Formats: sequence, C-alpha cells, structure tokens
Amino acid sequence: MPNFDYEAPTSLAEALELMARPGEVRPLAGGTDIIDQLKSNRRNADLVVDMKRIPELLELSMNGSGLRIGSAVSCTDVYNFIEEHGGYPALSESAALVGSIHIQNRASIGGNVCNAAPSADTIPPLLVHEAVAHTVSASGGEREIPLIDFFAGPGQTVLQKGEILKELVLPAPPANTASAYLRFIPRNEMDIAVAGVGSLIEVDPSSKVVTKARISLASVAPTPVRAYEAENSLEGSVIDADAIDRAADLTVGAAVPITDVRGSAEYRKELVKVLTKRTLNICLERLG
Ligand SMILES: Cc1cc2nc3c(=O)[nH]c(=O)nc-3n(C[C@H](O)[C@H](O)[C@H](O)COP(=O)(O)OP(=O)(O)OC[C@H]3O[C@@H](n4cnc5c(N)ncnc54)[C@H](O)[C@@H]3O)c2cc1C
Repeated sequence: MPNFDYEAPTSLAEALELMARPGEVRPLAGGTDIIDQLKSNRRNADLVVDMKRIPELLELSMNGSGLRIGSAVSCTDVYNFIEEHGGYPALSESAALVGSIHIQNRASIGGNVCNAAPSADTIPPLLVHEAVAHTVSASGGEREIPLIDFFAGPGQTVLQKGEILKELVLPAPPANTASAYLRFIPRNEMDIAVAGVGSLIEVDPSSKVVTKARISLASVAPTPVRAYEAENSLEGSVIDADAIDRAADLTVGAAVPITDVRGSAEYRKELVKVLTKRTLNICLERLG
C-alpha cells in the first residue's frame, strides 16, 4: 500500500478544511472500494479523510417530505431503516445485495454513489426514487444535483476538488407506488452485476393506468441510465402484460453495453429485457 496521511475529523467544518488542502485528498466512508483502489494503485492519495465520525454524514431520517440518507450511512442501516419505515423497497433490496453482510456493515450508500461504478447496485433504485445529491465544499458552499446528473463516466462524478457528498434526499413516494430492483450475477453473491434494473410505477387504483413510471439500468452503459422511452410508453397506459412487454423491449434502446468477461453486449441487452419485465411484475404484485 502506498503511503498517505490519514485524518478522521469529527465535524463537517473540519472535514471541509481538510478536503480543501492541496494535493490528492480522498474521502473514505466504509473503505470497501477506496482501500482496494489505493492498494492496487488504481487511485492515489496524499491524504485520506475518514467521513465515518461526522455526525451530519451519519444522519438517517424520514418525514412527510421524504428520506434523507447521510453519505456515510451504511447499507445495513439503510436496509433496516426502510424495512422498519417502508416506502423505498427497491433501495432496501439493493442495499441488501451489496457484497455480503460484512461489506454491508461497512459500505455506505454514499460511497456506492461516489465510486460511480456503472454496476453499482444502489444507484438504479436511487434514480427511480428521484434522489437528489446534496453536496458541500469549503469554497463553493452547498449544491443540489439531481442524481441522474451526478455521473460523468465510469468512476467519475461531477464533484469538484474539495467537494463532498453530504446526503442523498429522496422525495416521499406517492400512494399507490411500488418499486423493485433485480440484478443478474452468475454467482449467488459477492459478484458484480452483469446487468441490473430498478423499476418504479405509480398506478391509479381504479383505472389501473400508470401515472408515473421510472426505469433505471446498471452495467449496460458508462454510467447508470434511465430508460426514458420505456417510461413514456408506460405512463398513461393500463398496466398489463402487453404494456410490460412493450416497456421491456424499449429499455434496450437505453442500453449501450460493452462485451467483457462477464457477458456479451447482446446478452446484457437480453438481461435488461428480462429484468425489466420481472421488476415491473414485482411492482404490480406489491401494489396488490
Ligand atoms: C467483496 C466486495 C463485494 C462488493 N459487492 C458489491 C456489490 O454487490 N454491489 C455493489 O454495488 N458494490 C459492491 N462492492 C463495492 C463497494 O462495497 C460499494 O461500492 C460500497 O457501497 C462503497 O461504499 P464505501 O462506504 O465502502 O465507499 P468507500 O470505499 O469509502 O468510497 C468509495 C468512493 O467514494 C468516495 N467517497 C466516499 N464518501 C464520499 C463523500 N462523502 N463524498 C465524496 N466522495 C466520497 C471515495 O473517495 C471513493 O472514491 C463490493 C466491494 C467488495 C470489497
């Protein structure tokens, strides 16, 4: 492991002062991505700033307007919180898929987002639930960035030097809304998604017409993507098997996958179709 300095501030102000220092300064939350990247020289750092002791980044709360997830909150805490309070099933099921129990106890949702892997499991659920990234820096103050605009490429975000993710804010889902996330991996766990799909639908209970649809894909493009055409095809339609088939076909248009050791581009496109159908059907089951 290359040498770097390490600081563990206990206030946000102190963390921002450290983040503004010259050189390569990197935040660390759970460390499940960054430590491995530093060890294998895929990232370098002069200073690593631990975010896990900063109270503002560990806040997790829900009220009538929605859910706030501090950037350093672990996947385990997010899973338990949503299981208790409800409202964001796709996100809780993705939090429970990251690595293993041990990884979920350390790994944060914020780290999953800031690592910006196209395969990150919690990002499609955050996107279908319309998460907004709240960021902060010593020089630029606070910014609110819709999560869909947060990613600049594989491993790249729009965060500026010295800027950190403070929290993710998700609006309260309207009544008669359901969401689901599924990924395909060749093993049962501890693997990277070959493809992942998050879906959310809001349905008028009397007419069965979809009033809102959100579909987001992982591992099929340089960044996580929304399948806008598929969403549009569902909105205003009665939700039935034909509507689901049509939407599943249209998701393929949003996928620009690569072929690699985990699967060919064609295979990934087929997976996207299958996972879209399955997640939409799970949403329907959840809506009863
Ligand atoms: C064995 C194993 C299995 C895994 N399985 C999965 C899986 O199934 N699905 C999946 O999606 N991922 C998986 N991962 C990847 C990883 O666990 C997740 O991406 C995790 O959510 C990262 O969170 P973290 O808190 O550990 O991030 P860290 O490693 O601490 O940080 C990740 C990145 O985010 C930056 N960062 C952290 N906090 C902030 C902040 N507040 N502001 C700005 N930047 C910040 C860091 O500088 C770094 O670049 C796995 C990793 C391992 C080691």
